[in-house]
Amino acid sequence: MLPDGRRLGAHLPLGGGMVKAVERAHQIGASALQVFADNPTAWRRRSVPPRGLPEFRRRLVDLDIRPLAIHAAYLVNLAGPEKDFFERSVAVLGQEMIAGHEYGARFVNVHAGSHMGSGIEAGTKRIAEGVELVLGEIDATPDTPRLVIENSAGGGFGIGATVEELANIGEAIEARGANAARVAFCLDTAHLWGAGYEISSPEVVGSVIEAFDRLIGLDRLVMVHLNDTKSDLASRSDRHEHLGAGRIGPAGLRAVLCHPSLAHVAYYLETPGMEEGYDAINMARALDLVAGRPLPELPPEAFELRRDRKRAAPARTGGRPVPPAPRKSRTTVQKRDVCRK
Ligand SMILES: [Zn+2]
Ligand SMILES: [Zn+2]
Repeated sequence: MLPDGRRLGAHLPLGGGMVKAVERAHQIGASALQVFADNPTAWRRRSVPPRGLPEFRRRLVDLDIRPLAIHAAYLVNLAGPEKDFFERSVAVLGQEMIAGHEYGARFVNVHAGSHMGSGIEAGTKRIAEGVELVLGEIDATPDTPRLVIENSAGGGFGIGATVEELANIGEAIEARGANAARVAFCLDTAHLWGAGYEISSPEVVGSVIEAFDRLIGLDRLVMVHLNDTKSDLASRSDRHEHLGAGRIGPAGLRAVLCHPSLAHVAYYLETPGMEEGYDAINMARALDLVAGRPLPELPPEAFELRRDRKRAAPARTGGRPVPPAPRKSRTTVQKRDVCRK
């Protein structure tokens, strides 16, 4: 946890054991955790919760690691025009919400998706329709996870690449009469960069956050994926990099991590090499950013990892009212300054 209570965690693989992942989070100083509940590249979802789940939940509580976020399968696309694919996406995302509830997750994070050439307007409507159906799959209770829509870098007809597009998605969801309080947003810094936001500059970070507050409301920004990127600005491409070692760099990432209006947001690293020890290295780099310390140089092999974002699911074994959240209130967010000047 950071000095002002803001939470900083990482996406860790569950493949080595669910409880081990919690212990690892604790070991590297993570106070929040994001995981896959199942294979992120398969439609098939487990029918029975994994065996280690009760112990997993217990250890999260013992070690005060929260909020837990479930990252939904990559296949899910609510924004496309194809009926069959849309229906499968709704079904899988509904199952992710149910799994999230079983896991004790506060958030189920999903990419806004791709309109597949049908246009941003059609895609936006489709997402809203999908979200309404997904929310209908699970009753809203105080411990039902929120569905969290993540911005895109804009490649492959990606939707939600700008704050305006995210705001339109939020409005389309409300227009359908869905319970908008059950839906929130995630900003991924690598995606912002790919979409053309030059967040290497702290001033631009400030203006993105200001725009989000104005158009959506910062109370609905609940997650940040804190990643550096190998991609060019506005390239619409998305290749995550170690913190401060990519195109965004330390000043921009520090501005995101330390922004006084984001003390309520949970930060998750999705940096490369989580299974090769770079989880600890990137957590340490994040704490260096907060403290204003210069980042140590990384060895050449840090940039030659076989697969980026290797993030395994747990080993296979096997609806309800949500409290009304404030609507677009722009005053409820407490401002705190975590970083030493
Ligand atoms: Zn992300
Ligand atoms: Zn990404």
